Amino acid sequence: MGFSIFKFGGASVKSDESIRGVGQIVKNKVDLIIVVSAMGKTTNQLEGVLKAFYAKGNFNEHLSAIKNYHLNIISQLFGNVNNEVGESCEKVFAYIDKYLLHAEGLSKDEVYDQIIPAGELLSSKILSAYLNSVGFENQWLDARKLLLTDNYYGRAHIKWKESEALIQEQCVLPKNYVIQGFIGGGENNKMTTLGREGSDYTAGILANMLNAESLTVWKDVPGVLNADPRYFNNPIKLDRISYREAVELAYYGATIIHPDTIKPLQNKNIPLWVKSFNHPNEKGTLISSDGELDSAKPIYIFKPNQVLISLSPKDFSYINEEQLSRIFKILHDFKMDVNSMQNSAINFSFCTDLNQEKLDKAISEFGKLYRVFYNTNLELLTVRHYIYEQVVQLVAHKEVLLEQKTRSTIKFVLRSNTE
Ligand code: ASP
Ligand code: MG
Repeated sequence: MGFSIFKFGGASVKSDESIRGVGQIVKNKVDLIIVVSAMGKTTNQLEGVLKAFYAKGNFNEHLSAIKNYHLNIISQLFGNVNNEVGESCEKVFAYIDKYLLHAEGLSKDEVYDQIIPAGELLSSKILSAYLNSVGFENQWLDARKLLLTDNYYGRAHIKWKESEALIQEQCVLPKNYVIQGFIGGGENNKMTTLGREGSDYTAGILANMLNAESLTVWKDVPGVLNADPRYFNNPIKLDRISYREAVELAYYGATIIHPDTIKPLQNKNIPLWVKSFNHPNEKGTLISSDGELDSAKPIYIFKPNQVLISLSPKDFSYINEEQLSRIFKILHDFKMDVNSMQNSAINFSFCTDLNQEKLDKAISEFGKLYRVFYNTNLELLTVRHYIYEQVVQLVAHKEVLLEQKTRSTIKFVLRSNTE
């Protein structure tokens, strides 16, 4: 038997109580590699630190809140903070303080990747030490030394061959390990990140490189649902879906799993389980090559906070391949994901997640060549295996800005809250 990989997201390690829950889930397991995200909303809060830093605000206040949150959990778990975990936590914060003193002239993307990984460094130290303290022996691993990447900050690319050799050398059976999700080691000793919610991807990479038996992603939902309970009533759990279906769902914005996770698993035919950390004995959803039930139920994916951008060449030229490659070069440079797109003779429209800072920059860049129009406050609704009459009802009271359909999928860009 090989390793099994368990991935625990922020919600599953958000308090001392939830960390104890992880202890219950892994106890009696062997040959486990545990991939862990930052605790609770730490990544968002670290982003808040940087925001305050750039706005010349009081970022120390934000930092202290994050520090207190972690120290409090340490003291709940270990009785006090005067121990190795407490010290390594202090070190992480001392590093941030020192780093930000000299961060002013550096690129924002670089600074981001030198600060944000703190969340995973903290959570992995705490979890590893806690599990050791309750008898689940494990070794803490440093992803920065094992998962090597380029320096494409914010969404670094894995150097596959080198990393695979390091991982295979480091992880040897029989043993348990705890490692950070989401982060990697770039060139020149820089830290890198793999994209928001990237811990799933780390878990997929490790599963592939170690030819793992399976990957289990522990979530706060019973498995993969046919709709996001935040937006739809009475979602149904899917028992089995194929890799193909999973990747489509993730791509259209289902937040259940990071879209890059599936490929490394599919390539080695490694099953992926999505299970609830609140009900660990329930079956969850199995994602594998076999997905006979795929088309049985409609699946609804809702993505709020969208912007639709339309570009028309100022000189009335066609949207040909040359124009498209120019447009996509700019999108790539600004690390903007296209969630949906459509073109006509002299117009190219696409929908992307709203990030005001990126949007302003991209619009001024596009503005050099194109007339630019855009609409914010939109939502993207995608329905797989749709029943047309049903989805028409669903969007009846909304203004539809764009509709696209294939035999299996229908997509709408809608204006929010128009009654
Ligand atoms: N902590 C990172 C994030 O929140 C990575 C992850 O959770 O997967 O984006
Ligand atoms: Mg997270």
